[in-house]
Parts: sequence; C-alpha cells; structure tokens
Amino acid sequence: MDDDIKRVVVKVGTNVLTNKDNRILGPVLRELVRQIAVLYERDIMVVLVSSGSSIAGKEVVGKLNITDKSIRRQVYSAVGQPRMMRHYYSLFHDYGMRCAQVLATKRDFDPGKHRENMINCYEGLLSEGIIPIANEDDAVSVTMSMFTDNDELASLIAKLIDADRLIILSDTDGLYTGHPDDEDSVKIKEVTYDQDVEQYVKASGKKEGEGRGGMASKLRIAKGTAKKNIPTYIANGKRENVIVDIIDNKEVGTKFIH
Ligand code: GLU
Repeated sequence: MDDDIKRVVVKVGTNVLTNKDNRILGPVLRELVRQIAVLYERDIMVVLVSSGSSIAGKEVVGKLNITDKSIRRQVYSAVGQPRMMRHYYSLFHDYGMRCAQVLATKRDFDPGKHRENMINCYEGLLSEGIIPIANEDDAVSVTMSMFTDNDELASLIAKLIDADRLIILSDTDGLYTGHPDDEDSVKIKEVTYDQDVEQYVKASGKKEGEGRGGMASKLRIAKGTAKKNIPTYIANGKRENVIVDIIDNKEVGTKFIH
C-alpha cells in the first residue's frame, strides 16, 4: 500500500447496486461499507459517490401517474435518496462509523460561494472522520443543472478535495480490447491520460442499464482525472474486496495515470 494515500473517492453505479429486477442489493452495500471501514482503520478516508436514488424510489413508489419523464425521475429520486441514506446510515453504524449526505448540482462546482461552501463541508466532514456520501441532487437537478452522470460528479469531487485516488465501480472489469466475453479480447491494465484507447470503447463498453454513464464517458472522465494527477481506476464493483485490493496495488481493473 502507498503510505501517502489519505483520500479516496469511490463511485458506485446503479448497475452495481441493483440486480436485474432493479432492486437495491443490500449485500452489495454492506460489502462496500465493510471495505470503507477497512480503509478507515488505516487512516484512509473515502468519499462515497453513490447512485441508486431513482431505483430506490421506484422500488417503493412503483408506477406513477406523472407522464413527464423528468418529473418522474425527480419524484423517484426524492423518495429514494433518503432510503439509500437509511441503508448506509445503519451499515456504517454497525462499524461504529458515521456518515453524511452531500447532494450537489453542477452549478455548485462553478467558481464562487457555493463551491467554497462545498469545500468547507467536505473538509469539515473529513476532518471529523465522517464519511461523506455524495449524489447528484436529482430531486431538483434537471437538464441544464445536470451532471453528465455520477462519474462526472465523482471526478469533480476528487479534484475538489484533492483526492489521492478515484475508483469508478461499474459492472465491467475495466477497459478491454474487445467485448469482455470475447476470448481474444484482453483487459488493458494501465492507460496514460494521453493514450489513444477510444477505439476499444465500442467493443468493450456496454451501455449501463439504469445508470446514465457508459464506457465512453467513463474513459473520458478517467483520462481527465488522471491528467490532473489523480490515478483513476475503472473496476468491477461486484468483485470481492475490489476497493481494498486497488489500494493495496493489486492488479485490478484498468488504471489511468498521468
Ligand atoms: N444520480 C442518479 C441516481 O442516484 C444516477 C446518475 C448516474 O447514473 O450516473 O439514481
């Protein structure tokens, strides 16, 4: 393990958090929290960027009469976000840890007072050993104020708090030279931020089911974050011990470096 790792941003996508029936998977959340607790014991603070609000809302509210897609998403997220936090709150509590919710819209990252407030909030939480759990404020964030996806939000947070690593957890093991199920395709272990690997995306990337981001956007975000000197990983969120193994420098996922 690198002794200088103190802050890690972990982004977990809807595809990791849900099963095929679009239900939130409790054991996956528990496993994430367990790994965050392992790092906490080593004095490494994680900011968890968790999707899932919209699915968690749909799970309880079911079908709505609202026809406007955007308002439907707002309503589902408004219901689902506190459900997600209730899960996380109780899981962290089991480890004797505290967590907090920090929601943001894209505007909050523009230079100015909002951005300053957000930095103060993250710094305050981290200095007190409280795990920040971030998500887009989907209840009010519509069109113009929306992030491309939570990968973008995670990258902005990583830069905002000067993180030592960004880990993007998805349902794929990383970037492959072809489709991951294809025998001839191999996983690319390391990519530099200026390396031309876009040609692999089409073959390798599956568009995520319920989440917004796909592999093309992950690649763009990972390269952009690595360019700012934050080593970034794309890895499989359902792989056992994935976060801890990455921090322990094991060969997991695809690593993007400067
Ligand atoms: N913020 C959305 C949610 O929590 C997910 C956005 C994304 O898929 O990246 O449901």
